[in-house]
Amino acid sequence: MSELTNQVAVVTGAGRGIGQAIALKLAAAGADIACVDLKLEFCAETVQKVQGLGRKAWAFAANVSDAASVEATAEQILTTAGKVDILVNNAGITKDGLLMRMSEADWDAVLDINLKGTFLFTKALVRSFLKQRSGRIVNIASVIGLIGNAGQCNYGASKAGVIGFTKSCAREVASRGITVNAIAPGFIQTPMTDKLTQEQKDGIIKQVPLASLGQPEDVAAAVLFFASPGARYITGQVLPVDGGMAM
Ligand code: NAP
Repeated sequence: MSELTNQVAVVTGAGRGIGQAIALKLAAAGADIACVDLKLEFCAETVQKVQGLGRKAWAFAANVSDAASVEATAEQILTTAGKVDILVNNAGITKDGLLMRMSEADWDAVLDINLKGTFLFTKALVRSFLKQRSGRIVNIASVIGLIGNAGQCNYGASKAGVIGFTKSCAREVASRGITVNAIAPGFIQTPMTDKLTQEQKDGIIKQVPLASLGQPEDVAAAVLFFASPGARYITGQVLPVDGGMAM
């Protein structure tokens, strides 16, 4: 028996990057995975890889910033999988720019997906967690929500918001045996950071005591910990996975 045998995990933004690594890590620990991404076809590779690990996998298309889409998807997941034990709010975007030039649309898009998306998916599944008197919620924040970054006022605000949401939600549902924690990744090598120039990456690496970018699997390992039986007495916490950047 693996740590997460007979458990069902929902991972948003599971199509690639950190979300895919989380889906595979939880599947390797025994969980069946509901993969959520903007389009069904984005989930295809992750679904195939999860099935390759011998676990069940389902693909669901949802825009996490759209309440109707999220509610319908959560219903479909509960009907298809029968229950949910673990929710990982991972879907997120960046739209960087200096404050003076940042458009309202870029502010809204980042807040809507990163912060409102986390609220909406949690709200859509929390009733089932409350009923079953168990559940693990893991929100993917960022070190930028802890220490800030020039050119990322929208992103930093959204991730600081995710941290505040995590703590308030943790207090609200703790009495029903549900834990809510956040991970604050530093700079992780994914399609999101592939957009950075080599010069920008070199600049970042200089700020990282462990002197390298992280890998999606580093974040996935921390998610597995929060989802595992060993973390049952931990809630409302933010764990940086950042090579020591924010210490
Ligand atoms: P990524 O490679 O861009 O993957 C993000 C995933 O989320 C994509 O599959 C994307 O789908 C999906 N997504 C975007 N908007 C969505 C929406 N509205 N509804 C549903 N799915 C949506 O990013 P990543 O680097 O893996 O990042 C994953 C999470 O980690 C994000 O929350 C990010 O902020 C956080 N994070 C990343 C880093 C880093 O260095 N990479 C550092 C700190 C925190 P599409 O294919 O359609 O775009």
